[in-house]
Amino acid sequence: MNAHAAHGAIDLGRAVILPGLVNAHTHLELSYLHERVPLAQQFGDWVRTVMETRREYPDPADARIVEPARTAIARARTAGTALLGEVSNTLVTVPLLAEAGMPAQVFHELTGFTEQDPEARVREARARADAYAADPLVGRPVMGRSGAIRISVAPHAPYSVSAALFRAIRADLDAHEQAVSSVHLGENPEEVELLFRGTGVIRAVLEDLGRWPSDWRPPGVGPVEYLSDLGVLDARMLAVHGVQFDGEDLTRLRALGVTLVSCPRSNRYVGVGDPPLEAFYAMNVDVAFGTDSLASVADLNLFAELAQARRIAPRVPARRLLESATLVGARALGFGDDFGSVEVGKSGALIAVPVPDGVSDVEEYLLSGVEPGDVIWLDSETPNSQSPTPNPR
Ligand SMILES: [Zn+2]
Repeated sequence: MNAHAAHGAIDLGRAVILPGLVNAHTHLELSYLHERVPLAQQFGDWVRTVMETRREYPDPADARIVEPARTAIARARTAGTALLGEVSNTLVTVPLLAEAGMPAQVFHELTGFTEQDPEARVREARARADAYAADPLVGRPVMGRSGAIRISVAPHAPYSVSAALFRAIRADLDAHEQAVSSVHLGENPEEVELLFRGTGVIRAVLEDLGRWPSDWRPPGVGPVEYLSDLGVLDARMLAVHGVQFDGEDLTRLRALGVTLVSCPRSNRYVGVGDPPLEAFYAMNVDVAFGTDSLASVADLNLFAELAQARRIAPRVPARRLLESATLVGARALGFGDDFGSVEVGKSGALIAVPVPDGVSDVEEYLLSGVEPGDVIWLDSETPNSQSPTPNPR
């Protein structure tokens, strides 16, 4: 390949150029759990193992947590990821993202089913988030843009966050106009059972932990109706998973403008089955993709997630799946002005993927399982990128 032709031009050969991908749901601080949580038949088994293992690592700054997270960020970048939606309980991943120059919307996630003072809990979380955001390294511009790492407060899920804590988190979101948040919703049938009847495996886990509020009464509705009634759901609250959603849920989400973040490989691994992806698209819900954490997926390669989405949803047009992995994710995370499409004025976080001879449907090829070794970065800030030198300007 003639990498540096005249005046900084690059000859990539037969290749497709596309915006860097958007992984809208990760938990980098769980990267150390890679291959330590077995494939589960039931969600309860998976979650018990994760909780037990996390208790063995109480210090969030433990190098055994930090180093795998740092490696995971580098690998995500190598696989063509330009932007992350990153869930963090400890915020230990924020400086790692900053150090790597990886733009991200970080969701500082809270759990609390028996919270005595939910407002105080949210105030503490907000203070932590603001303190991290004020760090000069975190505030440093990435690709010439400031505000590349943003931190909001987020609720974990309806089975781990009380109604009062949900409301307090939503009030914090409403006080920060541009912020977006995220919630796990409709991932597993156990969540639906708990909300309708107040029974099942999740209740048993909470009782074992001594975190079951004796006066709790099930709302008697599904996850979407429950959070919609609480006033939590709108375009600024991403709903992650939705494996259990039916047509009524999807109609409601569409009307509320909620983006659904689908993580199909993780869903299968944790034993909750496949998401009804074709229904998501048929109902015109905005769909983004995420990998979820290395506790439930083999890698953070969003191209691999797209390949799984294609297997589950063969009738969805390829371009819609690609749009989900780029522009829809970028917009949902609040980064639509800078990422997700090839447009003048955006950040220029572009990648190229060589297309083998004989491939005629390029969009379909991008859904066939592109490997990190096939990705070439075209920006000048990424190591191993192809960059025009000298700069033509
Ligand atoms: Zn998650």
